[in-house]
Amino acid sequence: MSYPAPQHNLWQTFIDKLSCDIPRESFHTWFRPIRFIKIDGKEITVQIPSQFYYDWIEEHYSSQISSALCETFGDGFTINYSIILGDKMKNTLFPFREDKKISSGPPKATREASLNPRYTFENFIEGECNNFAKAAALAVSEAPGKTRFNPLVIYGGVGLGKTHLIQAIGDFALKHQTIRKALYVSSEKFTIDFITSVKENKTTDFSSLYRSTDLLLVDDVQFFEGKERTQMEFFYTFNTLYQAGKQLVLSLDRPPSELFDMEARLLSRFKWGLITDIQPPDLETRVAILQRRSEEDNIQLSPDIIDYLAKNITSNVRELEGALIKLLAHASITGTDITLAVAQKVLRDIIGRRPKKVSIELIQETVARLTGVPPDIQCSDSRKKEIAYARQLSIYLCNNLTNMTLKLIGAHFGNRDHTTVLHSIDKIKKAMFKDPEFAIKIRELIKQLES
Ligand code: ADP
Ligand code: MG
Repeated sequence: MSYPAPQHNLWQTFIDKLSCDIPRESFHTWFRPIRFIKIDGKEITVQIPSQFYYDWIEEHYSSQISSALCETFGDGFTINYSIILGDKMKNTLFPFREDKKISSGPPKATREASLNPRYTFENFIEGECNNFAKAAALAVSEAPGKTRFNPLVIYGGVGLGKTHLIQAIGDFALKHQTIRKALYVSSEKFTIDFITSVKENKTTDFSSLYRSTDLLLVDDVQFFEGKERTQMEFFYTFNTLYQAGKQLVLSLDRPPSELFDMEARLLSRFKWGLITDIQPPDLETRVAILQRRSEEDNIQLSPDIIDYLAKNITSNVRELEGALIKLLAHASITGTDITLAVAQKVLRDIIGRRPKKVSIELIQETVARLTGVPPDIQCSDSRKKEIAYARQLSIYLCNNLTNMTLKLIGAHFGNRDHTTVLHSIDKIKKAMFKDPEFAIKIRELIKQLES
């Protein structure tokens, strides 16, 4: 492909400027793979290999990019990043999504003002921990303002996918045109905008912006705690929208009953609709999330590494992603493949600090007590029904309660390979699925062992 020379030269100047600002290794890793496509007006389009590159560049180099843009092109220029998918190119830019652009000059739209294109229902992995919240979110996006889930209030700890889920509602509703206008805002931004509008005597502008949308997504409402005037403004916004049959979706980091300094009349509004929670992801969900992320970002991760990460990083999804990013950064900077040993080394600081979980001995002894099959027999070759069952149960519990990889579990149970281990886990899962009483017993057993 050939470009008009002047455009291409300007791009080269820009790249040269950047290379002076960024350490050599990093520059090579992150900027060499970028392909210049075109300049159209004040919009520069480039191609990057994956979402991961965009996230990384944006997080680490946006200020350098802004100033190099400004020096080379002048004010008001933006870069559009398109992600290459195989030989197809997926344009990740949407008119209402500002966040794939880095602009010269002072930052305008903040991230909060717009939807992150990655936060869709398709990218949201379901598990027992979040399937109800997801179902409610989907129902709301199919018929905003028309279900009984108004407002929809989703609460849960950090990094569990609240922002992702509520933005997915906006994404879906706009894509399927169940509404015309959606507005996503963090409570912090709502507060700042409100205070600014009071200072500048523009409260009417403020009100009409927030009251003219068909769908209002407000993230982290706990931020309103103790902010009386903002709460009042939000209360009026809420009422206006609600009465006009518009949809409200709110997220919180804890149940509404645990909010302090929040007006009772506002809290009582929350109960008009549906309040639902998101729990920390279980092991299967963590594995599925890692698999999806590694596919999205074109990272090759062997099953034992995925297993290692999912077993050891249990608290939330954001930490899981953080570990993945760290691994990828390490691999691309050093140019080495990610092996289990590399992963263990790179993530030492994240994983090493974790408290030790239940020991395999305790599990085997507990199972021995329950089934009458001693630990050494559990590890034997015997295929006798009771013995196989005790072994499967022990393996299932080890998988849930220890940091051990499938391979290691296999090694502890008479040198079995990892497919046999998976088969055992599957047997118990199926039995739990068929027999709810058995499932309850197993869950209680897990709780006992954990305490
Ligand atoms: P919260 O708002 O609850 O703190 P986020 O929505 O910001 O959490 O989620 C943190 C990260 O984890 C995001 O990158 C998000 O895409 C990802 N994530 C969380 N839950 C899921 C899920 N169920 N499936 C896929 N990705 C998820
Ligand atoms: Mg959030």
